Amino acid sequence: MGLFKLKDFPGRGSFANGIHPPENKEYSADLPVEVMPTPEKIVLPLLQNIGAPCEPLVKANQEVAAGELVGKGKGYVSAALHSPVTGKVQKIGMMTLPNGRHLQAVFIKPEGEQLEGKALWDDVYGGDWPRDCPAVIHAQQIADEIQAAGIVGLGGAAFPTHVKLAPDDKKMIDTLMINGCECEPYLTADYRLMVEAPDAIISGALFAGRATQAQEIVICVEDNKPKAIEILKERTKKTVIKVVSVKTKYPQGSEKHLIKAVLDLEVPIGGLPSDVGVSMSNVATIAAVGRAVIRGKPLTHRIITVTGAGVHSPKNLLVPIGVTMGEAIAYCGGLKKEAVRLVAGGPMMGFAFSDMDAPVTKGTNGIIAMTDDDIRRENETNCVRCGRCVDVCPMRLVPTKLALAAKYKNLPVAQRYNMMACFECGCCTYVCPAHIRLVQLIRSGKALIIASQKK
Ligand code: SF4
Ligand code: SF4
Repeated sequence: MGLFKLKDFPGRGSFANGIHPPENKEYSADLPVEVMPTPEKIVLPLLQNIGAPCEPLVKANQEVAAGELVGKGKGYVSAALHSPVTGKVQKIGMMTLPNGRHLQAVFIKPEGEQLEGKALWDDVYGGDWPRDCPAVIHAQQIADEIQAAGIVGLGGAAFPTHVKLAPDDKKMIDTLMINGCECEPYLTADYRLMVEAPDAIISGALFAGRATQAQEIVICVEDNKPKAIEILKERTKKTVIKVVSVKTKYPQGSEKHLIKAVLDLEVPIGGLPSDVGVSMSNVATIAAVGRAVIRGKPLTHRIITVTGAGVHSPKNLLVPIGVTMGEAIAYCGGLKKEAVRLVAGGPMMGFAFSDMDAPVTKGTNGIIAMTDDDIRRENETNCVRCGRCVDVCPMRLVPTKLALAAKYKNLPVAQRYNMMACFECGCCTYVCPAHIRLVQLIRSGKALIIASQKK
């Protein structure tokens, strides 16, 4: 299929390079979201966002109510933390995230009456979603309510949303882009949200549009999700929101590449979408904005996809943030004996983990249980200079040079070849016929650069 013109937008629906791995969304795409019953325990790491951590506001044995503030962000680029359940704080202790980071967390034991089933769904995504912003509501007030609700990017980036959506006199926002691409294989949480709760997204988008004072609001969806596109087009008919379909391609959901695909604008290396007049948030983030502003509710729940050939019953699940991976997997029938690897997030940018006590955080969009058939285990050989890694890199970097610079700790070469522009999408590793772990090497090189800059 060739590229296509996007009506009303200058982009061509795609960007240079990238890959199209097997989508593997069939495990869960047609499964309606199930509401997970209240789990046995909740673990809330005090850092679930890019930026500063929270300081705990609760102590051991303290009773908390559902929605109560339990952690206060230290600084502007931080996010508040709320209990998703009614219960008792067991302790403030250490835990380990799937990415290996050790952090302080609030451990809560759910006790007493909880919202469950349909009542919980209605509280989070169901019911009416008014579309008219009250004339009296000010842009900054919307940003303040988003900040109080502890909302961060739910697509995986976990950047505090109030920072992105706050009005800024120095950087005017022309276009609010709402990202419904979900380009990582396997994941279908955003897809189900678009199909089952489009009005929550639309209301949130209108309030986010008011906050940013954007001229245009556009929801962007990959063309492998025709049902979501159709529903969103129908539901946005009487609004200013436009819905565009873009080419199915990885990493179409990357901010910079989606801006190129839709608006034909290049975000400079090291720059932000706001440098080209764009603010971008994921569809689930925007639904959380709607819930915060319209219903005054903090971010306490999210949809995740539990999927893969290694889990008995793949599901899209509405879960409380802080449920452990083990409890979410157990609710999906547990792991098959063939499961050999667990990944938090998508297979391209997620993290392999083994600790079933690790929690689902605000940025966790999926858990994938893989079998031997899903995993390549070929031995690494020497680079054959085929250039495939260069051909697929969406940042137009030279991954093979970057990997060598990282391997030999040659920071001047790493910087000359723009190593910090790599956003670890994994396209280069995916295509390398020599099975060189390019992205892992580049990640280690970036850590060296950051460490050298702190000296
Ligand atoms: S991981 Fe980095 S170097 Fe490799 S393709 Fe992605 S952006 Fe390019
Ligand atoms: S894809 Fe692998 S083998 Fe080919 S040039 Fe890049 S690093 Fe070398």
